[in-house]
Amino acid sequence: MRILIAEDDAVSRRLLEAKLVKWGYDVVVARTGDEAWAELRKEDAPRLAILDWMMPGIDGVTLCRKVRTEIWEPYTYIILLTALCRDEDLVTGMDAGADDYITKPFKANELRVRLRAGRRIIELQNELIEAREVLREQATHDPLTGLWNHGEILRILRSQLSRAEREGADVSVIMADLDHFKNVNDIHGHMAGDAVLRLTARRMLSQVRNYDYIGRYGGEEFMVVLPGCDLEKAGVLAERLCQCIGGESMDIPDGMVPVTISLGVVTTSKGKKYDTDTLVQAADLALYRAKENGRNRVEIVIWKDRVLG
Ligand SMILES: [Mg+2]
Repeated sequence: MRILIAEDDAVSRRLLEAKLVKWGYDVVVARTGDEAWAELRKEDAPRLAILDWMMPGIDGVTLCRKVRTEIWEPYTYIILLTALCRDEDLVTGMDAGADDYITKPFKANELRVRLRAGRRIIELQNELIEAREVLREQATHDPLTGLWNHGEILRILRSQLSRAEREGADVSVIMADLDHFKNVNDIHGHMAGDAVLRLTARRMLSQVRNYDYIGRYGGEEFMVVLPGCDLEKAGVLAERLCQCIGGESMDIPDGMVPVTISLGVVTTSKGKKYDTDTLVQAADLALYRAKENGRNRVEIVIWKDRVLG
């Protein structure tokens, strides 16, 4: 494990470094508080740090405070090293965010076991972060297609709408629904249906910009949220989505299956306030019209004083 030593005294620094190397640590050395801060701010900063209290530039306690207020994650385990050994010094150090405190001259074995405790904390935190990421992925994504799930795509739409309102920008929404999807399931089975849904997601993702969002809204229904995209561009994209699904049969284990999709497009008009329900209903209505007008096509919503045209 990598460890940072920040110590301005050359003799102590070398002594400390020699011990840590002997114990198998990968040591990063800083001679001033500023050098230490530069190391701690790096993306792959050491997760363990031994900071001398008295140093030129930023001192150890100030450094502790900076780490705790400016670096949220991942956690840096900090041991303060100092000649100050009064109770109030200990309190000051711990209040600044240090995890542990060792007085100089340090006892090698004591430092060694305290570092072991620090390592255990870091490892536990890594496990927690990993578990949280898995849960977050599960809570926000559709497991079959890997797209955003229903709740998350609506949350994204809501946040994009308030952002667009602040910045005076457009947001477009496309609702898309595979045509006669029930037939795929009935004729080829549910495995084939799942394969079609996965391929649909992949094809749609290949058409959008990397700051657009696609969610699986329901069974075979998808919602696309396009920040900063006006009606004309959204219409063009919807046509492309229609083409990328219907233009070529889907190659699934069961054989080649022709699939088409219907899409409804809506865009906010600048300077007006929208809630998600209004936009979703409007896009849904356009989608319904696309189905009525023969499927495998795009219909666009034109607002007429907030009455759908
Ligand atoms: Mg010093």
